[in-house]
Amino acid sequence: MVAAHGRCLRPPCNEQYCSSTTTAGVLTSPCRIASNSSRIESTFIQMPSTDKSFIGKRILTMSHMKRILVTGGAGFLGSHLCERLVADKHDVICLDNFFTSQKHNVTHLLREPNFELIRHDVTHPLWLEVDQIYNLACPASPGHYQYNPIKTMKTSVMGAINVLGMAKRCKARVLQASTSEVYGDPLVHPQAESYHGNVNPIGPRSCYDEGKRAAETLFMDYHRSNKVDIRIIRIFNTYGPRMHPFDGRVVSNFIRQAIANQDITIFGDGSQTRSFCYRDDLVEGMIRLMNHPNGPHTPVNIGNPGEYTILQLAETIIAMLGSKSKLSFHPLPQDDPTRRQPDITIAKKQLGWEPQVPLEKGLAKTIEWFRTIDIEQYRPPTPNFA
Ligand code: NAD
Ligand code: UDP
Repeated sequence: MVAAHGRCLRPPCNEQYCSSTTTAGVLTSPCRIASNSSRIESTFIQMPSTDKSFIGKRILTMSHMKRILVTGGAGFLGSHLCERLVADKHDVICLDNFFTSQKHNVTHLLREPNFELIRHDVTHPLWLEVDQIYNLACPASPGHYQYNPIKTMKTSVMGAINVLGMAKRCKARVLQASTSEVYGDPLVHPQAESYHGNVNPIGPRSCYDEGKRAAETLFMDYHRSNKVDIRIIRIFNTYGPRMHPFDGRVVSNFIRQAIANQDITIFGDGSQTRSFCYRDDLVEGMIRLMNHPNGPHTPVNIGNPGEYTILQLAETIIAMLGSKSKLSFHPLPQDDPTRRQPDITIAKKQLGWEPQVPLEKGLAKTIEWFRTIDIEQYRPPTPNFA
């Protein structure tokens, strides 16, 4: 049931872009959420009170329970997001082609009744019925996205078109995992969302940077032209347990090298800066942005404004591990941004979000996890074809 201003009036839906439609004031297609709510609530009510496994679990009515698709859900950030959404009792569909991830990132979730896993490539159309979509599918580290640059661009662009088409059909809300890379090698510091960036369109990083920029364009155009309810999160460097140990990113490389007392590979002179956000803070920001009732529908930076040189990061990790590693210097990769720091004013004001985990605390948790893993279990990216 849709009121004149577009918000559904049927409790417990109350969504701005409800699936119900009206013709001349008559409901022609029912609101999914409102009509499903009695079914879901009765499912929970019928649980036998003697079922001990049910005791202590949160009962969620359909007003909160959503059918949520997470593309790239088996990856580093996607798997944590799925964990959080499953714990919050949503009906979660994790979709992944396992290009840069390991199945064991999510196998522990398979025993949960509100979780399912689909092997699928987002460059191909998909047909599901969902209320929310988090679009995370895309290789994220320079080594991974340059492995097959044409496929990377296809994943960003065709993946965006496919999830936006699905969101339009289902009237679902859809969030794009964008990146600080849209700012390129920034000439403005720190980077606010209003800065249009300084990106090389033809360099080795362009397949990722320009793919993500094109995806943002598609998201904004689907919003303006088709009223799709979109969210865009610009993620700054995020780290934490479950990073791929061979993704070549700076935190995973340095921790792996320091644990093994191997040389720490510094690219350039190490004076370039990055701002490192712990994965729990990031997932919290992403969920807040998705669930904020009125947008923002324009990009929002989520990252930790603490800015460190790469040399400082290396020294911190060596000291924390008491490692015997030495620094070894290597050429700076082409177009490697010289500095990066998010301006998070919008996230603070509109989402009430700011990071809670300081770098040393997040690194300690990440180091602890790296010490427990069997490195032999990790594969390089799966070869695939554009
Ligand atoms: P990740 O590589 O661990 O996760 C990406 C996931 O997407 C993997 O599971 C991979 O197998 C999957 N994938 C790749 N191509 C696919 C395709 N064509 N079809 C289906 N699945 C596909 O990386 P991450 O760090 O978890 O990044 C998740 C998202 O966040 C990415 O979109 C990335 O661009 C974005 N992001 C991450 C960071 C960061 O610092 N971690 C920073 C900026 C943006
Ligand atoms: N870097 C480095 N040594 C490494 C890996 C990365 O000095 O072993 C540098 C890299 O050149 C960049 C920074 O660390 O300046 C962050 O690199 P990462 O690949 O983690 O992320 P991105 O460049 O995408 O921000």
